[in-house]
Amino acid sequence: MTTDLAQHIEALRVVNTHEHQIKEDPWRASGPTDILQELFAHYERGDLVSAGQPVTLADELTNPATASLKTRWNKLRPHWELIQYTGYGEAIRIHAKLLYGIDELDLASLTAAQPRIAAYRKPGQRLHLLRDVANLDHIQTDDFCWPCLPDASGPDFFFYDLSMAEFAYGNIDVEAIARETGYTVTNLSLLRQAIAALFAKYAPVAVAVKSQHAYGRTLAWRERPLNEAVAALEEVLRHGDKASADARLCIGDWCIGQAAEQCARHNLPFKIHTGYYAGTGYMRLNRIPAGNLCELLIKYPRTRFVLMHIAYPYSDEMLAIVKHFPNAFVDLCWAWSIDPYSTMDFVRRFLHAVPVNKMFGYGGDTFWPTRGVAYAAQMRRWMTRALQAEVDAGDLTERRAIAVADRFLRLNQLDVFDMAAKRRAVAAAMKKNAPVPVKRGTPRKTGSRR
Ligand SMILES: [Zn+2]
Repeated sequence: MTTDLAQHIEALRVVNTHEHQIKEDPWRASGPTDILQELFAHYERGDLVSAGQPVTLADELTNPATASLKTRWNKLRPHWELIQYTGYGEAIRIHAKLLYGIDELDLASLTAAQPRIAAYRKPGQRLHLLRDVANLDHIQTDDFCWPCLPDASGPDFFFYDLSMAEFAYGNIDVEAIARETGYTVTNLSLLRQAIAALFAKYAPVAVAVKSQHAYGRTLAWRERPLNEAVAALEEVLRHGDKASADARLCIGDWCIGQAAEQCARHNLPFKIHTGYYAGTGYMRLNRIPAGNLCELLIKYPRTRFVLMHIAYPYSDEMLAIVKHFPNAFVDLCWAWSIDPYSTMDFVRRFLHAVPVNKMFGYGGDTFWPTRGVAYAAQMRRWMTRALQAEVDAGDLTERRAIAVADRFLRLNQLDVFDMAAKRRAVAAAMKKNAPVPVKRGTPRKTGSRR
């Protein structure tokens, strides 16, 4: 029986705080053309390799140029059977069912689905899939770069993060920084000015700042004395990526501090990847707990930090952090597909420990809108289970569970990311950059775009 709670969560226009969704043109030009590519080119590759599938097979099995669908499926099937019950495997099953009507993955159902892929790559389908099928209010995308200008394919829907990852890694790309800001970095003062200039340029339209430096260094942060930072920058400028790990870590910490300051100045939340890695075979667990960030949270109390992915598997520690620090929020992006059962459990533990405004309940963290539909549906299924369990236990009335769902999936995000103001700023930027209308009969000037 479908409950009011389930129906409410199904119909809720959820805010999606973390994606890497590709833009309209690349989606249409180079999105998936093959059903195995469509269904098996995402995080599940990690589970397949972990289960024993040779790494070299991953590309071969999703590349139609290598063999027929039948041959590739026959090779993939035994590996699929091993991962079908994981969160990633569940997302594949949901994806296949919702977009292709597939109940059971087999050669017949995959063959029947193949001709349907092209329709999802028609103009405007990317927006339609995410806004109308996945039923999202808007999405926030990290496309790994500084520019986060309005996206003409859906300016009220596609918002972008300003990436600070390279700075946080301690990679100082002098030429790229000069191109973006006009500052050629030769010393620490110029680096400070360049970072401030990047924020001045993009903060008005950026929805947040993002860094996933935990993939390449420890999250452990400490304040760096000026003389140490000066020496570290000198070394990094002289030796580039051959500079010592210590120097890069030092200048990375200093840049993270600068970014945190700028976030407070420009009213931008600072999103930081914590916890689990995509892929296989390189994770160092001591680098990724969110507890490594305590010094940063203490040093910048006016900056709101969004700690992503429940720092899986260090989620107990995450509860303590968001309970304790007024400037820390937890984001459940990606967590639902990494480990839906633990994430459901996290929601319940959170509810009994942390103020209800400190959670953002969803982000798909994927590149393709079709998989975005699946991740949103997977989250709704498990979020419903989490809150229904609270109702069944007598700890929430259904009416209160519905109010909690509204907060976790929509209201907290609209508030903390100040979306009403952000939408106005992006609309104004669109208007400013729109082509100057040309009167009939007037010769068109070149360079009418400002
Ligand atoms: Zn991500």
